[in-house]
Parts: sequence; C-alpha cells; structure tokens
Amino acid sequence: MRERITVAIAGNPNSGKTTVFNSITGAHQHVGNWPGVTVEKKEGTGKYEDVDMRIVDLPGTYSLTAYSLEEVIARDFVVDEKPDVLVNIVDASNLERNLYLTMQFIELNAKMVIGLNMMDIAESRGIQINIQRLSGLLGVPIIPMVASKNKGIKELLDAVVKVSEDGTSEARILKINYGHEIEEELAKITNILGSKSFNDRRSPRWIAIKLLENDERIKSEVSKLENGDEILKQVQKSASHIQNIFNDDAESVIIDRRYGFISGAATEAVHRTKDDRHTRSDTVDQVLLNRFVGIPIFLFMMWLTFQMTFKVGAYPTNWIETFIGWISKIITWYLPETWYRSLLIDGVIGGVGGVIVFLPSIFILFFIIAILEDSGYMARAAFLMDKIMHKMGLHGKSFIPMLMGFGCNVPAIMATRTLESRRDRIITILITPLISCSARLPIYTLFTAAFFSHHAGTIIFSLYILGIILAVIMGKLFGKLFFRESTGLFVMELPPYRIPTLKGTTIHMWERGSLFLRKMGTIILAGSVLIWFLGTFPWGVEYASEASYAGKIGKFIEPLVKPFGADWRSGIALLFGVVAKEIVVGTLGVLYGTGENTEALANSLKTAMTPLSAYAFMIATLIYMPCIATFAAIRKETSSWAWTFFAVGYGLALGWLLATIVYQLGMIIGLA
Ligand code: GDP
Ligand code: MG
Repeated sequence: MRERITVAIAGNPNSGKTTVFNSITGAHQHVGNWPGVTVEKKEGTGKYEDVDMRIVDLPGTYSLTAYSLEEVIARDFVVDEKPDVLVNIVDASNLERNLYLTMQFIELNAKMVIGLNMMDIAESRGIQINIQRLSGLLGVPIIPMVASKNKGIKELLDAVVKVSEDGTSEARILKINYGHEIEEELAKITNILGSKSFNDRRSPRWIAIKLLENDERIKSEVSKLENGDEILKQVQKSASHIQNIFNDDAESVIIDRRYGFISGAATEAVHRTKDDRHTRSDTVDQVLLNRFVGIPIFLFMMWLTFQMTFKVGAYPTNWIETFIGWISKIITWYLPETWYRSLLIDGVIGGVGGVIVFLPSIFILFFIIAILEDSGYMARAAFLMDKIMHKMGLHGKSFIPMLMGFGCNVPAIMATRTLESRRDRIITILITPLISCSARLPIYTLFTAAFFSHHAGTIIFSLYILGIILAVIMGKLFGKLFFRESTGLFVMELPPYRIPTLKGTTIHMWERGSLFLRKMGTIILAGSVLIWFLGTFPWGVEYASEASYAGKIGKFIEPLVKPFGADWRSGIALLFGVVAKEIVVGTLGVLYGTGENTEALANSLKTAMTPLSAYAFMIATLIYMPCIATFAAIRKETSSWAWTFFAVGYGLALGWLLATIVYQLGMIIGLA
C-alpha cells in the first residue's frame, strides 16, 4: 500500500514557496480559496519514491500573530490539520529575518524541514552559511536549494520522507530562553494553565507566550476555560510586571528576545565575506565580539566591576563599621554586665555586625551585574567565553552562572536554570561552590591583613585563581566521570543592546540582594546566637574557653583540622562557617573574645597561627562544604539528594586534602 502524507509549504513572502510547490506538483494542482475568506489556497499532489503527497502552499507570512488573516491561516493549518511535514522555505540571502518565522514554527513543535532557498543570491552577496552547524543549533534538517533552477528539490523531498517516517523521534525540543524575568512569568502562567487544557500541538508554554504577546484569539480561547478568569488575571499581572521592569510592553520584549536567539544562531553559523550588516547592535557587536579585542574588553569590564565593588564599597563599609562600634559602646555603657548584654554584644553584634559591613559591596556588585545583564552585555560575555568553556567540556552558557558565583553562590546556582542540558546544569552546579563568593572575602581580608600585609592583594588573588582552576579541573573530571554524552549544540541568545532602566536594574539588584539580607536576618543571626550560647555555657565558665561547650566541641574535632595546622578555635569557626561562611570571622571574633574589633582579632590570630597555617586555613574555607543556603539551592535545582550530598562530600574531601597537602608540604620545605 502506498502511503499518503500531507506536506505544508510555509515561509516568508517571496522566499520561493510557489516555485518549490510548482516544481513538486507539476501540473497536478488546483487553486481555490481558504474556507470563508478570499485568501488564495493552492493545493496539489506529488510523488517521491513510493510516497504520495498532498501538498499545500500556505500564505506567505513573516510571523504567526493573530494580527493578519494570512498568519492565522498558516498557524491554524499547522495546529489543526497537523501536516505530517512542514516545509519551511527560508530565503538564505535574508536569513535572520526569515528565521523569525522558523522560530515560531519550532515553538509550535511542528515537524519540519527547512529548504534554505536562494543560495545563489546568498553566495553572490558573500554570505557563507555553515548548514550543518545551523541545522544542529536549530535541531531541524536543512537542505540548501536554488528552487528556480530546480536545485535541491530531490534532496528536499528525500528529507521530507525521512522526517515523515521518523514518527517517534521528535526534533529536540528547542527552547528560546526569554530571560529570567519573562521565564518566571511564563512559569507562573503555565502553572495555572496546567497540562490538560490543550491536547493539541500547542504546549502550555506556547499558550503562555501567546498570552503575554497579547494574542486576541488565544485570549478568547482561554477565557472559555474553566479557570480562564484566573489565568487572564495572572497574564495581566505578569504583563504589567514586565512593562514595569523593561519600560516596554511584554510583546516587544518577547520579539526582541526571539531576534536575540536568531542573532546568536546566525553569529555562530553565518560568515560574511562582504559586510552588509546594518543594525546598531551588530555594529556594537563587531567591536565587543571581536576576535582580538573582545576578551581584553571583557577582562577590563570585570576588573572595573571589582574595582567599583570594593573601592566604592569601602566608603559605606567604613561608615557602617563606625556606626556598629558606636552602638556596642552605647550598649556597654548603659547595660549592666549581664548575660543579655553579652548576648547582644558578643553574639548579635559580633556575628551579624561582622557581616553587615559587607552589605554595601554586595549590593554594588549585584547592581553592576544587573546592568551588565539588562544591557545585553552579559550574553556577549558568555558568547566570548564559549570556546574556553568548551575546553572544560561545558557550554558558554554556563559562564554566566559561574560569574555570578563571585557575588553569591545561591543566585548563581539558581541561574543554571537557563541551561538546556541537564548534564551542563549538574556540572555547573557542582563546580559553582568553588567560585570564591563574596562571603569568603572577609575571611581572606582578615587573614591576609594579619599575616601577609605586604602581599595581601597577591594572596587573595591566588585564592580566587585557585578556585577557578579547581572549577575547571573538576568540571572536566565530572563531565568525564558521570556523563557519557558531550555537550550538544545550543544557541546563545544575543538579545539587542538596551539601555538598562534604573528601575529594572534596581529591582534585579534587590531581588538578589534581599536573599542575602534575609540570610543575615535569619541564618546568620541564629548561627551567631548559637555560637554565643555554646561559648557562654555551661554558665560560669570563662567565655569561649576550653571548658565551654564550644571548647568541648572544638577539642573533639581538633584531630580533623590538625593536619592542616588549625587549632580547635579554627575548627569551630569552620564548623559554624557551614551555616554561612560570613560567620567564620564572627566566630573567631567571638572565640578570641575580640568582638567586632578586627585589629585585635588579627593580633590574637598571629599568636595562634603561622602564615603557612593561615594560608592552609584560607584554602580550606575556600573549598570545603558550601554554606547552608547554597546547600538548599543545590537540592532545589538538582532535585536530587544524591547530587546534593555529593557536592558537599567532594567539597569537604577536596578542601581537607588540599589544605593538608599545602600545609604539610610547606612544613617539609621549611615554610613554617
Ligand atoms: P513565494 O512568494 O514564496 O511563493 O515566492 P515565489 O515562488 O513566487 O518566488 C519569488 C521569486 O523568486 C520568483 O521570481 C522566483 O523565480 C524567484 N526564485 C525562487 N527561488 C529562487 C532561487 O533559489 N534563486 C533565485 N535567484 N530566485 C528564486
Ligand atoms: Mg507564492
């Protein structure tokens, strides 16, 4: 029995659809109208090998909105009649504009073959397209064609038959990442939509996108659902939230993002020998993505970021320090010497105060990161780092989460959501804790001030580099050990540059910074009080002496930390550092009874440690067990206890091992 399949031909006007249609159907065609409207409908039959085809020439469109009749016809045909194969004719000489429609068919989960037509014109304009690459990025077979010369028709039909037979293996679900702001709103909408609402090709995600795009037809369809009102209310809320942040309507932002995806794909797969680029973003990209100056510019940006963060942050930090010192003086002055005065000064102010001073730097860092993200530069940074990331078996997209890790590992791990492949996501999550987050900086600052005053900068830098090197090695190792397949091809979106709005940037800074604030108000406060309690009780012992509970625990774990030259106080500090690494400094302050006076603490440390053991201790704090908040984030994002405990276990082992090796080797070569 001969098969009969339905093939729909779609594409932009003048891309060559009718030429392809005529070439396949020959004389076997008839022209009519689409039901109820006066848009021309061409239908015909064709044959290839032993397959009979019913071919439909869809109206030419640039998009699939509900604004024009042609677009609605094309969209409905794909959704309702589910053609076995959709042949998307793309004009190669005008690739990026044509791919906009392609993207929307991909989002509709259409089974598709791309006929990349007008290759003759593309060639004469010096546009070289790496077809294999583009096909890999989009997850769709692509056949180069010159339809007017009948070139590529046979290959196209061949691909059509293959795709139609390949019933089970749907093309890889390609997902445009609309950026975390829009993705969050999409998730809210799809949550209410549920999966049962539509049982056709349209995924809840597609419906949600269309709703945000203000698609009248989808809106009226949804309003008839049982929970239609609730859904549309959420859409309203989401749309105004997006409007608020981007200062632009959701529809435009979504369109921009789609073009960003295409622009990323084109930058990877298209090479132009004659330059005819014209958009402003393209011009800027010629500089920022340049082979020679791109990376130096990026490094300069990073240098500038850290300068701003720590140099500018130093001023408010000093004010806060003075203010806290002043408060504890007042408390000492007014309160009698009781347990609650000790709780306030040694516990609360000693612990939380030591962290609060760090707040301005963190907010400045998040503010700059938000500017880099919102302007579109961050996406370029990922693009630039792609080659380097591939060397460690990851994709350029993993770079942004890791970069954010320098601020705080928690938002960094949450940012791995943008990675399509689970493999990349897991590996990135596992190595992100090796990136020295800002919470570790107060520890470095304290110890380098005490032991390496002349080389403080170099020592701190060496720790950051050590973290990065370890991340690279571990990333490669984990990739080899746990995952057989390597990273696939993924498009890195290059959204158009935008001037970030103050409002949007501030909101983004606040979203991430408030995580940190909440951590201070809850975990760090609780941790500080707990340490104070363990240092004070049993009641009557000398504060934080060996007779206190803290001392007893410290003595108990001392054998574990001794190999890298730490004593029981450092052991306790590490133990409490699990709560939050910021606590390490506060704990030491509490245990040495120096409170928030870091100078006094540095002097006490000098009597207890050597530069060598101090360095080993810093290595241990860098690598061992991520903090509780990071632990929770890892659990949430991997949704696996196994990976979560693995992350902790390997961190502990690696931290202990490296600190011990450094310390013992140092002893042998006489650095003590
Ligand atoms: P439609 O609007 O998508 O149906 O496009 P048509 O099939 O009507 O083609 C538009 C014009 O492009 C016609 O003049 C075709 O002869 C021409 N054309 C189609 N394919 C090619 C091609 O591969 N190369 C060149 N140079 N011209 C083509
Ligand atoms: Mg036509």
